[in-house]
Amino acid sequence: IRYPLWSRGLGDVYKRQVKDRANKDYLTGMYNRRYLFDYGEELFERVQHKRNDSFCVAIIDIDKFKNINDTWGHDIGDIAIKEVPLVLSKYVGDNSLIARLGGEEFCILLKDRETEEIRKLFEKIRSAFENNIIKTKKCDLSFTISIGVCSVLEDSLTKMINRADDALYRAKETGRNKVVYYES
Ligand code: GH3
Ligand code: MG
Ligand code: MG
Repeated sequence: IRYPLWSRGLGDVYKRQVKDRANKDYLTGMYNRRYLFDYGEELFERVQHKRNDSFCVAIIDIDKFKNINDTWGHDIGDIAIKEVPLVLSKYVGDNSLIARLGGEEFCILLKDRETEEIRKLFEKIRSAFENNIIKTKKCDLSFTISIGVCSVLEDSLTKMINRADDALYRAKETGRNKVVYYES
């Protein structure tokens, strides 16, 4: 990106670029794992202090992603990965953060959402992927995702991420293309 140099000091432009390089993922331009933990921890502590706020962690993982790489190549695999945050950001709005955890795995942090709202949201996201077709040079690409969710407030963000990960594992184990919730 070319920043207009007259609009801000050069120092600010440089600082922004350095920050982006540290906090953002090169492939998707989304926040990376490091930022998720830095910012997420801060967000989490704020929620903990205000007892009646709600907080939700979801992990999204492409189903059988290895097949996409093996069948169509790494470049098409990269297109699939880049599609994930594009679709996610259509559905999660304010008070949320999307980050790439690594590979074809993403994490969403949501604040202040009702249980029923959360259920509807993730079902919408799941079906959006199921019905999505991406036109590429080599093929019409389509894939499903599995989602693990923890919306039970635990005493640390790491714990909530682990719970969501356990739920994701169960989604994979029981057939994929589904949303599984951690129940306390
Ligand atoms: P599951 O349904 O259980 O999630 O199976 P899966 O095939 O999606 O999961 P698995 O963890 O076996 O495969 C992930 C693959 O993702 C392995 C790795 O080579 C590939 N991968 C990791 N990072 C990237 C990337 O940046 N680009 C591409 N194209 N592939 C990547
Ligand atoms: Mg996968
Ligand atoms: Mg994975």
